[in-house]
Amino acid sequence: MHLRSAMPDESTTAESRNFIEQIIDADIASGKWGEPGDRSVVTTRFPPEPNGYLHIGHAKAICLSSGLAEQFGGRFMLRFDDTNPAKEEQEYVDSIIEDVRWLGANWEGDVRFASDYFPRFYDWAKDLIEKGLAYVDEQSPEEIRKNRGNVNEPGVNSPFRDRPTEESLDLFARMKAGEFKDGSMVLRAKIDMTSPNMNLRDPVMYRVLNAHHHRTGDTWHIYPMYDWAHGLEDSIEGITHSICTLEFENHRPLYDWFIDSINKDRAEPIRHPQQIEFARLEPTYIITSKRSLKLLVDDGHVTGWDDPRMPTVSGMRRRGYTPEAIRAFAKVTGVTKYKGSHDIGLLEAAVRDHLNAEAPRRMAVLDPVKVVITNWSEHGDENRVEYFDAINNPNDEAAGTRKVPFTKEIYIEREDFMEDPPKKFFRLGPGREVRLRYAYWVTCTGYETDDAGNVTEIHCTYDPETKGGNSPPPDAEGNVRKVKGTIHWVSVEHALDAEVRLFDRLFTAEHPAKAPKDAPDNWSFMANLNPEAMQVVTNAKLEPALATAEGEPDWRDSIRRYQFERLGYFCVDQDTSESGTLIFNRTATLRDSWAKSKGK
Ligand code: ATP
Ligand code: MG
Repeated sequence: MHLRSAMPDESTTAESRNFIEQIIDADIASGKWGEPGDRSVVTTRFPPEPNGYLHIGHAKAICLSSGLAEQFGGRFMLRFDDTNPAKEEQEYVDSIIEDVRWLGANWEGDVRFASDYFPRFYDWAKDLIEKGLAYVDEQSPEEIRKNRGNVNEPGVNSPFRDRPTEESLDLFARMKAGEFKDGSMVLRAKIDMTSPNMNLRDPVMYRVLNAHHHRTGDTWHIYPMYDWAHGLEDSIEGITHSICTLEFENHRPLYDWFIDSINKDRAEPIRHPQQIEFARLEPTYIITSKRSLKLLVDDGHVTGWDDPRMPTVSGMRRRGYTPEAIRAFAKVTGVTKYKGSHDIGLLEAAVRDHLNAEAPRRMAVLDPVKVVITNWSEHGDENRVEYFDAINNPNDEAAGTRKVPFTKEIYIEREDFMEDPPKKFFRLGPGREVRLRYAYWVTCTGYETDDAGNVTEIHCTYDPETKGGNSPPPDAEGNVRKVKGTIHWVSVEHALDAEVRLFDRLFTAEHPAKAPKDAPDNWSFMANLNPEAMQVVTNAKLEPALATAEGEPDWRDSIRRYQFERLGYFCVDQDTSESGTLIFNRTATLRDSWAKSKGK
């Protein structure tokens, strides 16, 4: 699969603009948010809840909202929706900031926190109580749930619904002061207990929660609910287009109701942003639910949120993915209102495309077997080292060349030799000749095995006339000798030892969270985990140009990524600095082996 052929047309005719761009075009034309040309007329945000690490779905949301701000010369905000003290942690805040920055999204000013707006939310809530649009409800959580009804049955009004305004104001102040136990009472909006939209059945705005908050400490004993807080956060920040995923579509009437209610009889209305929903990004073979990803971490199925098998931004970064590849994937998957899944092959194609253009080439042998050049001493000193120029990147002349040492003994890939090869095997076998990349042509004259029959050493002669890997001159009759195969190699004397971690898809099922028809009650998506998603090679041999840069200083800013010739794309893993052993991660194979295995 190639990404470019799947890329939508880049032209900017109205038809090719996605529906959100069309909304923004219309808003600019009508002057809805102010003078055209003013940066504030397109203001978007990314509002993560700091209760986990970001995943590829969040990356999509970030690329979309920050991309629109950039495209229209507007502003993009990064705001933590830190309204729930129970599950939130500083570790998540830090990782999210790092991930958003790494993806290349530029936010305006400081990182924002919803918790900074708590006093304003509180004042507006009091305002709603005073307008008769909110009340303190003392029903138990069970009663509230029961009296809400369901999609077929209308809800039942709370006995506290029509209590005097003064009473609600007094109780609300005391809720805030910490006089009541968790769950003892809530503040609810007074909307309509019979609404067909469940979200409008007197939704809870505040609950009592005597919990410590990562930023506000013990100041608050009540915390706002998502629906109450979110639109207000958007309004305070001057958001114009509040972009979210489709599951919030049914919440939009509430988003609007809250802001309209605050604005009722208000001399200076607050800004009323427009919520716009699009279909979530759902790549095949992965899971984009923070809760499920956290289970994988907590149950030890992966080494952490940044395990290279994880679809998290930190996991993909560690695996060697580039921000450019992730952004290309976000773009190629488009923006629609239709639910559907997206071929993970497109993400892998995006990373191959980018690394094919950028990654320096190196030689590495993952499953080494030794080759001895038996006629090496016939043409010079047996211990001599010859250096060959190797091209760093055929797609980038400026990347130049490097010297690769060649000696009497080299390693090649075990699978590049066969004791009894079929005709079409163009690599090494008894009597067969092959080109060693950049070096010489060699012919196999014999091999040795151990008691178990494993090949332990291969004997070859080399042809000095093929220096640099070039064809030898024609023979007396003018015939030119040809060789079909080229294999990679590493000098035994110069080889660096390394561990190489080979990653594959974390799940074997296209839709890992989908239970099969006959699934038992306790079925979980864990049943689809790919037991072979990580294989560790401990005795890889690398060419010396892959040596550790001094201590691998800040690996995040300077992840070293390479193409190992004929093997795929690899990058230095962060564990390298701690262990001292060179450790590489496989980012991607050279070709899409999954498509091939499925006969695509
Ligand atoms: P959970 O996994 O608990 O449902 P979440 O992924 O919705 O949480 P948030 O922190 O609330 O986590 O998400 C921040 C933003 O990312 C939201 O605006 C949400 O719409 C968007 N987002 C989340 N998942 C995806 C996805 N798969 N595709 C596109 N956008 C997403
Ligand atoms: Mg969410």
